[in-house]
Amino acid sequence: MTYVGRFAPSPTGDLHLGSLLAAVGSYAQALLHDGRWLIRIEDIDPARQVPGAVDRQINDLKRFGMVSAEPVILQSQSRARHDAVIDDLMVRGLAFNCGCSRADLPASGIYPGTCRNGVPAGKDARSIRFRVPDDPIQFNDAVFGQRIEQLSDTVGDFVIRRADGLVAYQLAVVVDDIDQGVTEVVRGADLLGSTARQIALWQALGAEPPSWLHLPLVVDQDQQKLGKSTDADPVHAQPPLQTLKTVLHMLGQQPPEALHSIDAVWQWVRGHWQTRRIPSQPIPSPGR
Ligand code: GLU
Repeated sequence: MTYVGRFAPSPTGDLHLGSLLAAVGSYAQALLHDGRWLIRIEDIDPARQVPGAVDRQINDLKRFGMVSAEPVILQSQSRARHDAVIDDLMVRGLAFNCGCSRADLPASGIYPGTCRNGVPAGKDARSIRFRVPDDPIQFNDAVFGQRIEQLSDTVGDFVIRRADGLVAYQLAVVVDDIDQGVTEVVRGADLLGSTARQIALWQALGAEPPSWLHLPLVVDQDQQKLGKSTDADPVHAQPPLQTLKTVLHMLGQQPPEALHSIDAVWQWVRGHWQTRRIPSQPIPSPGR
């Protein structure tokens, strides 16, 4: 089976060190497995999109020597496919209409199953939720190890079509990963908590879930995750060669100082990348 990896940024701002680290980690894993690496822009939420961010993200990745093996996909173009999958889950009884607003939900945020057997009289259908399986979800993360999650205890039936009509991230990301033949998902540890939900969807859609590798978060001096929407320094203001080496060090690798080009660094990564060296603890952003 060919290894297929991907980097799937939302165009909500410029890439910063944390998102660059996720891109580098996923690219390195694809090199290690002699596989293909794809870029998919997750632009399904127009309100959060920053004008120009798509092009700037793709250009930044290129400056760091990372180019998609296939034309870059915009997730918004898969809308009809996402809708068809949601319809199919509805027909199979694996998803249901929900009339609850945020105010109807308990403070825990765990869905109590109110509309599982039909929207109560006096309420209108607002969103669509996926019926979580009864059995716990188990998976092995290459960095964070063995995980087990009972979805009914942690989130409950979760939204796959939002009340505003938009397809939810959980559904869109799984459908696109399946359609693109992704065999390993490498991304930031902020999404570790989404993985069990996504595995449940992979299984409901009759697909073999991929391998998972979550990368440590890059944090500022207050231990807060760097975010595209916060004031994190954009990577396009930074020298690519030195920044790439810094990111590899942050990922526990030891590229020699004597590598004098981006190409040389990736050549080195191909032969020397060691997955087991990736740390799981949050990494302080250098120079902040
Ligand atoms: N689009 C998501 C983000 O930028 C990442 C999706 C994923 O890697 O699964 O946070």
